[in-house]
Order: sequence, then C-alpha cells, then structure tokens
Amino acid sequence: MTINLIALNVSKNSAKSITIFQSSTTEVVRVFLFDVVAGQNKITINGLSNSTDKESARISVVPGDARLLDLVCSIDQSVLRDNSTSDVNRLLALQKNALEDEHKSRQQELSVLEEYARTLKAEHVSPEKMADFLDSYMERRRTISKAVRELEEKIAEANKAMWAKSDRMAAAFGKITAVLNAKDDCHVELKLTYHYWRGLDRSSDDSGEESERSDQGNVSPPENKISFLLLERLGEPLTMGVDYSENKDLWQTFHDLSHMGVEHRDIRYANILCAPLAPPGFRGAKCPYHKRMHKFRIIDFDRWVKSDYNMEGHERTTVCSMGGLLEGISKGYKVEPWATWRLFSRQISVSALSIGYLWAFDYLRIFCLLEPIVRFFCNPDSADIDDKKLLGL
Ligand SMILES: [Zn+2]
Repeated sequence: MTINLIALNVSKNSAKSITIFQSSTTEVVRVFLFDVVAGQNKITINGLSNSTDKESARISVVPGDARLLDLVCSIDQSVLRDNSTSDVNRLLALQKNALEDEHKSRQQELSVLEEYARTLKAEHVSPEKMADFLDSYMERRRTISKAVRELEEKIAEANKAMWAKSDRMAAAFGKITAVLNAKDDCHVELKLTYHYWRGLDRSSDDSGEESERSDQGNVSPPENKISFLLLERLGEPLTMGVDYSENKDLWQTFHDLSHMGVEHRDIRYANILCAPLAPPGFRGAKCPYHKRMHKFRIIDFDRWVKSDYNMEGHERTTVCSMGGLLEGISKGYKVEPWATWRLFSRQISVSALSIGYLWAFDYLRIFCLLEPIVRFFCNPDSADIDDKKLLGL
C-alpha cells in the first residue's frame, strides 16, 4: 500500500485566529486546503515555533469521511542540539569581515588614485604623456570601481547567508505529522489548533524536564502587558491659517482618548495629522463612540498616561492644550508646549512653565491664566497677531 505524502509549512499560511491568554500561552488556529487521494495520506506541517506545546495540537478535517488516524507534534531536537549553526555563522562572519576589509582597501585605493590625478598640473606632464596617463587612469579606475561593486554584492550575500543561519530562522523547528484516511480522492479543509508558550522555550527539554523546571519556578512569570506596534502611512499636519476651533471631528478624536482614560500629555502641532488617503493609507474603521471615520490622527504617545480624570477633567485638559494651539494655527503660527519664547529679542526657555503645561492639571489652569501674557512675547515676527486682543485689552 502506498502512502500519499503532503508537505505543508505554516510560514506560507496565514493564521485564521490568534488568542493570547494571560497564562503565557497563545492559541493559534490555521486552516489548510489541499487534495488527498483515496487511502492513507501522510501530512507533515513544518515551521511551528519551538515553543509549541506538543500536547496541545488538535486537528479537524472537513469532509468528515476523511478520518484522522494519527497525530504527532514534535520539535526537531537534532537541529536544536546541533552547534554547527553557530560555527557556520562564525565562519560567515569571518568571511564578511574579510570582504569588508578588502572593500575598504579598494575604496582607499580609489581615493588615492583620484587624489594623485588632482595634483597633476600642466608643468609636470607633457600633453602626450597626459593622454597615456588618462588612458591608464581610466582603465584602473574602472577596474577598482568594478571590484568595489562586486565586493558590495558579496557582502550583501554574506549578510543574507548570516540571516538565514541566524537564531530567528532556527526558532521554527516544530513539526506536526498526521495521517488521514480518505475513502475517495477529495479536497479537504484541515483545521489545526495548537498552543505555544510565550517567553519560554520549552522545546529544548523533553516533557519530564519541562515539568521539573516548572516546579522549580524557573518559568517566566505570566505577563499582563501586550505591546502592539501599529504602523500607518499618515497624511499632512493641520493647515496653517485654518480655524479648527469648531471642528467637531478633531475634538471627537480627542474625546476618544478621554473615553479610554488616555492623557496624551504632548499635544502639539506636529502630533496631529490628517488621516491618510486610501490607498495607499488604510481605509480606516468607524469609531465605536462616534460611529464615523475620523479625519484626524493623534500620534506620538511616548508621554501618555492612563489618568483617572472623569470625562470633564479630560475635556478641560484637552481644551487647555488645544485652545492656544488651534488659535495659533488659525493665525498662522505654532504654539509649542516646550517652546523657546522670545522676550525683548532674547531667546528665553520657559521650560518651567511648560512642565506645568504638560504635567499637572492645576498647572494647566495657571498656564491658561498666564497664556495670553506669555503669548504676547511669543512670535513677534507674526505680523497678524493682535497683541491687544491676546492680552484681552
Ligand atoms: Zn470617535
């Protein structure tokens, strides 16, 4: 009896769902579509994380008359225990260093040649000899440039080879082997569910050692923090000279942060951008609070805090941060929280005031009172600032 062999790899398959549990485990569901023949089909799924929980793998198959006979999840221990990868990498690194040294030498050679050519003057060389020199100069220059380009290609190849042998690639030696028995030739949908451990590579031990390690408490503690990196192509900043103070959509964008208890603490001109055009930007999603797609994006959350203000508190801090900024934009200038203000033609940093502006609500109120006075000294170059109006006179 012949067995039909089917080889699959998770790197070529998008996960259908990923569920992150607080207990340091992550559940992954993947769906594979392929054809089987009548009789036994041995399916190998490669490329699973080394941290895969070998006991967690489950498979279901549609149609139901294709029966699962056997299922084994394993980690290729021979690869994990093979030190040759690091030896190969060391060799590759040596080769790369040698290539880089040669590249440097050839570049120096080229610059010496060019420097020498620059020093030649008419009184040193006759016209006939100059023609000979130029011929040999050009020939040598071409040879060196070609060598430099070739070395750059070789260095790039060495980098690629080192990457291919790196630990990142080596971290996926989990494998699932399953045997399916089908009555007839058919197309099947195989759903694979498995767990893997975050922050703990349990694959390097066998199961006995795993439990021993767990008992000894050498396991990474469960993490309650999940970080996401969201990259989105964004649009332009706010347009100078436009009055956004009544722009409902912009205020609602800040309300969204308030709903989530997020205080940005660095609201400034550079941190408010318009939504990108789609494509190439993402199409965006409707805001769950305002049931619309907002036209603005707030960026740069490196100073944010989760605050316990109520909505009114949040709105007051937003108004304090945004009021001066939007008024400035409508008049064609930027009001920066950490600005250097110009007073009597001298640059004076008002960082103490700005700290208040950024860090504490009470200080914000003080800033709001002082703001018109401070703004009087700010941006004297802007001809269209009505100083009397700003001072409330
Ligand atoms: Zn919203």
